[in-house]
Parts: sequence; C-alpha cells; structure tokens
Amino acid sequence: VLKIASRCNLDCDYCYMYSLADTSWLVQPRFISPSIYLTLAARLGTYLRSHSVPRFRVILHGGEPLLAGPARILDIVSAFKAEAPPGTTLTFSMQTNATLLTEDMLTTLAPAGIRFGVSLDGNDAQNSHRPFKSGSSSTSQVLDALALLRSPRWTSSYGGLLAVVNLDSDPVETYRFLRSQSPPMLDLLPRLKTWDRPPAAGTSDWLENIFDAWYLDPGAPQIRLFRIIISRLLGRDVRAGFIGPPPRSRSLAVNADGSAELLDALRSTADGGSATGLSVRTSTLDQIALHPGYTPPAPSAVCQTCPVFDVCGGGYYPNRYMTTENGVGSFDNPSVYCRDLYHLINHIKTRLQEAGVTLPSLP
Ligand code: SF4
Repeated sequence: VLKIASRCNLDCDYCYMYSLADTSWLVQPRFISPSIYLTLAARLGTYLRSHSVPRFRVILHGGEPLLAGPARILDIVSAFKAEAPPGTTLTFSMQTNATLLTEDMLTTLAPAGIRFGVSLDGNDAQNSHRPFKSGSSSTSQVLDALALLRSPRWTSSYGGLLAVVNLDSDPVETYRFLRSQSPPMLDLLPRLKTWDRPPAAGTSDWLENIFDAWYLDPGAPQIRLFRIIISRLLGRDVRAGFIGPPPRSRSLAVNADGSAELLDALRSTADGGSATGLSVRTSTLDQIALHPGYTPPAPSAVCQTCPVFDVCGGGYYPNRYMTTENGVGSFDNPSVYCRDLYHLINHIKTRLQEAGVTLPSLP
C-alpha cells in the first residue's frame, strides 16, 4: 500500500488519515519523491526475487493518489515494473475518491494496467460524509468517473466500489444505488471505531437489511464481507483482514516519505498507531518484516470461547483497541462491533439454513 500523495481534496468526517486519532500526515511531504519510489522498487525487486513471490499487488493510495498527477503515477508504475523479476506477476490498483478521474486521466493511466477502486457511500444524500474541503458535494464528479469506468473502453479498469456504512441512510436504497453503478465488487465497511470511540448502535441491522436484499438479487455484485462470512460458515478457510483469522498474505504500507507503516487503519487507534520507526530508505523489506507489529495480536480469550469465533475471528483488529486505565493501548478485547458481528453472522447463518443449505457445525 503505497501512499503516493499525503493530502486529499475531500474532507470525509470519518477518514482515518485526517479525522481520527492520528496526525502524522502533517509532517509528510505532499507527494512521494522519485528517490523514495525508486529505492522502494529496487528493494521490492530484491525481496520478490529472494522469496520467489509469484504474485504481488501494488495499491496506489493516499490521501488522494490522483493528486500526484498522471506523469508521476506512470513513472512509479514503470519503476516497479522495471524491478519485478520475471517470475512475479505484478498488478496495480488504486483506491481513489475518483473526483479527478477524468477521461484524460483514464486515457493516460488505464494502459498502464491500473484498476481503480472507487470510494463512494451512495447517492448524493447517502454520500454526504464525503464533501470537498469547501463543503460542497463531491458526488456528481464521482458519478461522472463511474460512468466512464462502466463504458466498454474502460470497464476492465473498474475494480469496484468501497462504501462506508452510513447509518443515516436507508440501507436497501443505498444498496440499490451502489448496485446501479455496476461495480464488479462492492466492499461495505463499518466505520473505523475503537472502544475509545465506539460506534452508534445499528450497524448489524443496517448490514442485515442489505444482506436480505442482496442474497435474493440475481446478478448482484460480490460483497466481500458477506462472501467471507458465507464461506467461513460453509467451513471454507477464506480470509480477509477485516473478519476471520488474519490473511496469509503479508502487506506493507509505505508513506510518501518512505516510512514503513503497519496496517494503516491503525491510525484510527492512537496518534502514531501505525508507525514502525523504520523506513525503506534505510531498511530492506526483510528487515522491516521483522517488526513485531506485523504479527497481528492474538484474539482475546473472550473471543476464543465465542460460538461464532471460527467465522468472526474477533473482528478487524483495529476495532479491538482500547486505552486501558493506565493509559496504555490494548488489543486484548473483542471487537467494538462484537454485538453487530455476532448478530450479522447468526442472521446470515439463519438465512442459509432457511434456504436449505447444510452447514458444518462450528468447532
Ligand atoms: S462475535 Fe464478539 S466475542 Fe465473538 S468472536 Fe466476534 S468479537 Fe469475539
């Protein structure tokens, strides 16, 4: 996950970069420099060769990565391609708010093989937490970009949509709107919350309403959260970072100044919550990988006796964070979404059983 721009042109009130616990973006350069991405590309090439890695994905991220401009973005992609060994399939994606994803931008970037994941919470009312810095709505620019991505010329560059749960909006109407954008894949993510900043009640009801509309909907897009829960209920060891046991693949986030981050969502826990103190300027990727923070914390003892633990895994680990009485942060807790996860998993289990699906008993 490469932060090629450290600022954004939107002002989303739930953003873990700018609006929650962390302030480290303030000391980041606005854009990644050639010396950083050339160094990282060379280090990555060495890593991929020495570990014979068959597949590696570079996610261009920010802030808003398109602020870096097309010339810089193409140069970054070229640098990584030049260093990748022949045995590694290297893919590129970008997570963008898409307000700058114009026809010119797509004409320049799509041939480089970048797939675009677009952040959008719904129609203009449902997307109200994602305004421009001026306060005006960003929705129409995003919808213009999605119209381009749906066109035959660029549909292979359309990675999907990422929507953050908005409890103020009607869930089924939100689902229908997002579905109308024909995303190849839809991510529905609860807001990044911790026990220090718990969520409002209602996330499981909201998601269950969408599940009920989605699972009877022929031709519905894949919703990763639901797919993982169903797969795990069926006894399949499918993994993702945000539910179930930790993924087997490893990930690294690198900031615009070359500093190495842990899971970047840990910025939601505390100021500097994702920092390692290491940098690609001075450390190899093998040295960085030794940082103990890359091993996710074990689920709490409470979770390990929970009837849905095999599906839930204790939830996304930033959501387990709590500042203890002596001021120290701890992940040794169930998820702050525990009740929601428990209800959602049981809701999906019930729907599958009603549909006649035989489920293996969970250990
Ligand atoms: S539902 Fe709650 S107690 Fe059960 S595994 Fe998930 S977070 Fe832990």
